[in-house]
Amino acid sequence: MKYVSTRGGAPELGFADVLLSGLASDGGLYVPTEWPELPPLGDDYAATATSIMSAYIGNDIPHQVLAELVRDAYATFRHPAVAPLVQIDDDLWIQELFHGPTLAFKDLALQVVGRLFDHVLAERSERVTIVGATSGDTGSAAIDAVKGCDNVDIVILYPHGRTSEVQRRQMTTVNSPNVHAVAIDGTFDDCQDLVKAMFADEQLREDCNLSAVNSINWARVMAQIVYYATASQSLAGSPTFCVPTGNFGNVLAGWIARSTGAPIDHLLIASNANDILSRFVNDRDMSTADVVPTLSPSMDIQVSSNFERLLFEMNGRDGGLTAEQLQRFRATGTLQVEEGEFAEWISSTFTAERVDDDQTLSEIGRVYRETGMLIDPHTATGTAAARRSDRSGAVICLATAHPAKFPDAVERATRIRPELPPALGDLMERPEQITRLAADLADVSAFVRQISRVGR
Ligand SMILES: *Cc1c(COP(=O)(O)O)cnc(C)c1O
Repeated sequence: MKYVSTRGGAPELGFADVLLSGLASDGGLYVPTEWPELPPLGDDYAATATSIMSAYIGNDIPHQVLAELVRDAYATFRHPAVAPLVQIDDDLWIQELFHGPTLAFKDLALQVVGRLFDHVLAERSERVTIVGATSGDTGSAAIDAVKGCDNVDIVILYPHGRTSEVQRRQMTTVNSPNVHAVAIDGTFDDCQDLVKAMFADEQLREDCNLSAVNSINWARVMAQIVYYATASQSLAGSPTFCVPTGNFGNVLAGWIARSTGAPIDHLLIASNANDILSRFVNDRDMSTADVVPTLSPSMDIQVSSNFERLLFEMNGRDGGLTAEQLQRFRATGTLQVEEGEFAEWISSTFTAERVDDDQTLSEIGRVYRETGMLIDPHTATGTAAARRSDRSGAVICLATAHPAKFPDAVERATRIRPELPPALGDLMERPEQITRLAADLADVSAFVRQISRVGR
């Protein structure tokens, strides 16, 4: 199995190189040279995950090694089905993707990706330093995924005072010498800019062997195909999936599952007030606006980086054209696509709904009144979008976070404060380890050099 860049100007690589490199050298994202057909379901979630991922990994990792690593990854989940389906109304289901160690769906991919990193690095006798910025969920999921890895040091920058307490504590209470949670005096965008600047520093990049596990990493998208495959085949007919969306990574995995043979009718994109994708799908208007903070912060994104992979397919895999469109998008803030292409590629597969904070709160209240269940605000944008959409047949909404991860919004809507699962019950008492730094490139780079074990 080989991979090509969406911008057509980088060498073809195998899976292990794609895993470690994250971004292609031409600035594009890696995709497989061809899409392998979806294999049949296995006996349980881990078995299905192994056979799906094996089709994308090829010979880079021996099958038995992969099977064990995947089984280990999903053994950290609190539910035996890993990603169970729960019915909440006629024709309306949620798929609970929050039973992993850090209570958000990102665990489904990152628990596997951390183990893949460790395996490939050990084989090559290499070390990396992962640096990343987070507004909350990615950082905690990435830290948990690599906390035991001998070959990885991780530095996660988060905006001081701007994450929820649960999110912060999930990053700062992991007592492991290779984990470094850094509170930056600044915003999430400042954190992201610092990470980009560190990657642009060739010397630092080489000295510390910098690596990334953000949502553009192909291995994350690959691991997310699995739950679309298991859920779509456990209901009769072809369900529609409704996906609370930020960076487009999750819904892209749904598109791949559908294109490679999973019985999926349609993909419904749920946006919050940051609705660039909804505007695009409904009005063909892809133009950026300022990010506004909402009750569903993990969807507060204006530039959905994984959309590039779909654009590349829409362009008939023409990397030059894709690079050109994206360059124009960056310069003008507007993406232009042909009407015919749009109808065939977007309208035939995607619809979208925008759900604001008031609607999110009333949806959390409604689900609680009707079912006794507490759902988190991200999930609620999905179920609200699904109820509003006029599509017939079963809809599966992806429940992307545990309600206890966003307790303030849930309490506002229901007057009930959701409790953490027992395994995390003492989170609020655990000692925190925090490094606090100014939003200063020299300071942050010096810190990364100091903790990195690359070359030692
Ligand atoms: C990351 C995240 C999302 C958005 O996922 P994308 O892959 O970026 O579209 C939605 N909900 C929660 C809880 C998340 O953590």
